[in-house]
Amino acid sequence: MNAAKVLDDLKRRFPNEPEYHQAVEEVLSTIEEEYNKHPEFDKVNLIERLCIPDRVYQFRVTWMDDKGNIQTNMGYRVQHNNAIGPYKGGIRFHASVNLSILKFLAFEQTFKNSLTTLPMGGGKGGSDFSPRGKSNMEVMRFVQSFMLELWRHIGPETDVPAGDIGVGGREVGFMFGMYKKLAHEFTGTFTGKGREFGGSLIRPEATGYGNIYFLMEMLKKQGTDLKGKSCLISGSGNVAQYTAEKVLELGGKVLTMSDSDGYIFDPEGIDREKLDYIMELKNLYRGRIREYADKYGCKYVEGARPWGEKADIALPSATQNELNGDDAKKLVANGVMAVSEGANMPSTPEAVKVFQEAKILYAPGKAANAGGVSVSGLEMTQNSIKLSWSAEEVDEKLKSIMKNIHEACVQYGTEADGYVNYVKGANVAGFMKVAKAMMAQGIV
Ligand code: NDP
Repeated sequence: MNAAKVLDDLKRRFPNEPEYHQAVEEVLSTIEEEYNKHPEFDKVNLIERLCIPDRVYQFRVTWMDDKGNIQTNMGYRVQHNNAIGPYKGGIRFHASVNLSILKFLAFEQTFKNSLTTLPMGGGKGGSDFSPRGKSNMEVMRFVQSFMLELWRHIGPETDVPAGDIGVGGREVGFMFGMYKKLAHEFTGTFTGKGREFGGSLIRPEATGYGNIYFLMEMLKKQGTDLKGKSCLISGSGNVAQYTAEKVLELGGKVLTMSDSDGYIFDPEGIDREKLDYIMELKNLYRGRIREYADKYGCKYVEGARPWGEKADIALPSATQNELNGDDAKKLVANGVMAVSEGANMPSTPEAVKVFQEAKILYAPGKAANAGGVSVSGLEMTQNSIKLSWSAEEVDEKLKSIMKNIHEACVQYGTEADGYVNYVKGANVAGFMKVAKAMMAQGIV
């Protein structure tokens, strides 16, 4: 394989999809060497078959707002690869959603799911519908209309969606309810469900907790831990909240959180009580992070991200490309020792380069945030065997999965000088399993 040529061809065939190109480029540049050790892969053009999604559904969603106006949005599901299990990946509702973003997420998801060691392929879906400012009934009407199309393409052995940005317990509940009605079945077709109807304990916490378990493995390898270390967290949604919770539990200090309007900086640290306030503010009242600054009298910076603040650890947990090369330089200059990604692809390629050249610990989302989909996989298992495990059981399994992912990254990513290139490690480990499965299944 000539990675540059493969990428050029993809850019020509699928122009105007920058996020998709970015994700593919990162993977190709790190697996090229390993791939070329296997001439049998190239004989069957494995790389193009792995980069191009199996199929993409795209549809119009029509719904009525509270004023009686008819609204239209776009709906999508990208089924990327099912070589090792049913398609699996979240649904995102955000005004910025487009095919490029969903193709990048579905591509990444394939490698991430492979890394978890659970039998799940990769997919992603969503809509440019934004739940922000919408009433409960508007969200429900939109979701029901969205499901009128999506339901026929998913199923417990076919494609199992979950949440992502803008899709939490409320939205998954509405999707599941409509799916159940249309498909006339009660099966584990969604994960992240409510506990009363098949949801797994620890699923809401899993991505944030998993990120911190991964971080702890990296720190342990350097003979340290989180005690007394200060952390910058971006976002204040599902991933950010439970990342903060686990940091506090393990003795770290949380200095910042953010939303799409700006960030708060609390030099005293966001403690348990203040985090409870943020959870209520975001999950119940759907308010803005600036309200925290009003309540606790700390700094709020409108229209900015927290990467200029000084701290030991950075945990980007909001969205893609939220940390650029200049941000990375500031973090490194301020002495950051580790960056572990709760979000998907939050660091731009320039930022990743800065971290790796500075030889700090840097964990890409596809490894560090794999805890969410891992517990989704455990939810699928519990649904199939019609049992539910205790929180302790699920948490133990999550810890052990994150430890295994860390080990796989170290195995495939350790460089000659001992520095662990976690990007390379995650990509090669994730790729090899999918590649072997595809080879065994013939040219399909
Ligand atoms: P939520 O919708 O719960 O929270 C997203 C947070 O990020 C909110 O604070 C939101 O602010 C902020 N945000 C969203 N878009 C932007 C933007 N364009 N610029 C700045 N801030 C933004 O989503 P999640 O916490 O579930 O997801 C966060 C990240 O984690 C995403 O990258 C997602 O793909 C990834 N992820 C999530 C998993 C999960 O299990 N939920 C699993 C693995 C990865 P606001 O409130 O203003 O919109």
